[in-house]
Amino acid sequence: MKVTLFFIACLFPFKGLAATAEILVTKLSNEAYLLKSANYNTNIGALKTSRGVVLIDPMPGEDNLRVLSKKLNGIYGSQPLFVLNTHQHDDHAGGNSYFMNAGAKLLSSTMELAEIKTVEVKSHSSADKVFFHRSSNSIFVGDIYDTNWHPTFYAGGVAGFVGAVDAILGLGDESSLIIPGHGKPTSKEELKKFRKNTLDWVSKVKALKESGMSLSEIQQDDQIKSIFQRFNVENRAVFVPEKAFIRFIERTLTVIDSAV
Ligand SMILES: [Zn+2]
Repeated sequence: MKVTLFFIACLFPFKGLAATAEILVTKLSNEAYLLKSANYNTNIGALKTSRGVVLIDPMPGEDNLRVLSKKLNGIYGSQPLFVLNTHQHDDHAGGNSYFMNAGAKLLSSTMELAEIKTVEVKSHSSADKVFFHRSSNSIFVGDIYDTNWHPTFYAGGVAGFVGAVDAILGLGDESSLIIPGHGKPTSKEELKKFRKNTLDWVSKVKALKESGMSLSEIQQDDQIKSIFQRFNVENRAVFVPEKAFIRFIERTLTVIDSAV
């Protein structure tokens, strides 16, 4: 019995820790914080403006949102008055209603927020938004650029992707912090490498397709495997599941076909 009680007593503090550890907080500046949900790995921005706190890309999940809300109280002593989304996929917009129910206003543009500039592009989704927060010199780019996954330029194709990257590079300066939709924040230099790797990937897939290779032959190609690994910037032992690798080739072929 004593042993059981001791075990339960030990278990509860850990349960408590697990609950608070779901959202990781990184301070970017006095007016900008990056919050990251462990289970979605979505990068969430919390920016202070003269109109109130602005939240970018709250992910879904009641438990996550409760912790996120507490973290925001701890940082700014208040809840967000505005919510912005880089795009409408659930892992970026699924938490909107949680904060709207608490009084936040969902904004489709940043016209009324002098501190944040918005650029609209089409790359990952048909309506991607890039947010540049001037005082912290940080640029929230959503899934136009992820640092823990392969590119996903399916809505805009190659032209949309290149246009989106150009738009991002046109904001801020050379030391701007680039906040991807998922994965670690990075720099414009890294984004330029990602653009080059993406273009290399598309032209290699295109060349192999034109040489008459089938999907499974493209999958086995050494150069394809090697270009794909360039997106594994975190050097994970298994970058993504094999299924995702095949799907990426398939979707790249679709993008190539639709551009012809
Ligand atoms: Zn996402």
